[in-house]
Amino acid sequence: EISETGVVDQVTKDLFIGGKWVAASGGRTFAVHDPSTGRGLCEVADASPADGKAALEAAVAAQRGFAAMPPRERGEILRRAYEILLARNEELALLMTLEMGKPLAEARGEVAYAAEFFRWFAEEAVRIDGGYAVAPNGNGRFLITKQPVGPTLLITPWNFPMAMGGRKLGPAIAAGCTVVIKPAEQTPLSMLALAGVLAEAGLPDGVLNVITTSDAGAVMEPLIRDGRARKLSFTGSTAVGRKLLEQCAEKVLRTSMELGGNAPFLVFDDADLDAAVDGAMQAKMRNIGEACTAANRFYVQRGVYDEFARRLTERMAAQKMGRGTEDGVVVGPLIDDDAVRKVRELVADAVERGARVLTGGSEVDGPGHFYPATVLVDVPRDARMSDEEIFGPVAPISVFDTEDEAVEAANDTEYGLVSYLFTNDVKRALRVSERLEAGMIGLNQGIVSNPAAPFGGIKQSGLGREGGTVGIEEFLETKYIAVSL
Ligand code: ADP
Repeated sequence: EISETGVVDQVTKDLFIGGKWVAASGGRTFAVHDPSTGRGLCEVADASPADGKAALEAAVAAQRGFAAMPPRERGEILRRAYEILLARNEELALLMTLEMGKPLAEARGEVAYAAEFFRWFAEEAVRIDGGYAVAPNGNGRFLITKQPVGPTLLITPWNFPMAMGGRKLGPAIAAGCTVVIKPAEQTPLSMLALAGVLAEAGLPDGVLNVITTSDAGAVMEPLIRDGRARKLSFTGSTAVGRKLLEQCAEKVLRTSMELGGNAPFLVFDDADLDAAVDGAMQAKMRNIGEACTAANRFYVQRGVYDEFARRLTERMAAQKMGRGTEDGVVVGPLIDDDAVRKVRELVADAVERGARVLTGGSEVDGPGHFYPATVLVDVPRDARMSDEEIFGPVAPISVFDTEDEAVEAANDTEYGLVSYLFTNDVKRALRVSERLEAGMIGLNQGIVSNPAAPFGGIKQSGLGREGGTVGIEEFLETKYIAVSL
């Protein structure tokens, strides 16, 4: 029988360094909260900069040995992690819901999604390729091989606390890189549980080091500036990503940056409206809207504008709000009070500038950090939410007339992660897909995330791709050996 206190008690709340669970120096800890009640769940180790350094030392010490491990063995560790995650899905999902708030059904989906990254990269570990070529002048030969970049620093966010771990750890381990990983302070438990799974799967000591801390900046900056870690992979806000890129510049670390988004969602007159509304619900409400891929702006062509808004409102108004552990809940709590305050401010700003509320938009009494599913229409360009990530269950809709107007509005942002597009005209579908400035396009589809596909953004949404066949390349260097004959 799985109980809430049971799953929290099961997690080891220490730092994981060199294959051992150790307390933070001075025995310091910080509290983890349940966002649906605001109450404390437990305390976890609060790493100091010295603890961070110890984790880096362990990763550096393990690098040579791990790079020499046969790829098949690295793959089999990942494969075992995949199987253990599936076997423990139920308890891990409950743990995630408790610290993050998402509905249990979505947490189950995320554990499976995290597991899929381990399966995918288990298969990629044995497919790292090389080359042999004749030099153009015919006299020499080129040997081309791939090697792990070396020890890596990974930083993950709170919104997908286990999947973002899987998405970075899978390729790092497959490539033969050792790791220091730091989860978000709001959601350390999912990562600590994941570390336990990987240790059980047979990962050698020192390959994975987990540091939880309440002071990310103070602990990570010295590790980035140290220079022995050769790569930083970060998922989080553009503001923090920009700062980390500067820190990485000093020792020229390689970087992968998955940053913010401001996804447009275009619906043309010729779209299948049922599919568009289903896609809108997925793109908006997955993870309570707390996703960098969340549809942040809906642009709907005039012929279907009223009908789309009516149908979306009907669906949004029917979504059950509550604790993620309750049956049928879709609108769980937001991560904290600041998140609710931001959503409230953005809605008030849009309404002040002329938007109309079709459902939601009101305060929620009681404990926990809740905001109701909300639909706004006639949202003007100058509303703050046209430029800022809402990160909550709010769907702002605006009208357009021509295809050019829609594409211009969609691209009018510093971000370029994902764009959604609903049309049944194949020529328009391809024409608009090519013009949209985004790393990913959801074409008649409200979800783009898939471990087997290259996830990532352009413009200020980031650098590099995670997943797919390119995912492992982010953790590999190309070496070329010039051979004289
Ligand atoms: P969000 O707004 O989603 O919380 P952040 O970018 O603040 O996004 O956080 C994403 C991750 O980056 C978290 O693990 C957080 O602890 C970490 N982080 C935040 N600030 C820094 C920093 N200055 N240096 C390193 N990591 C940081």
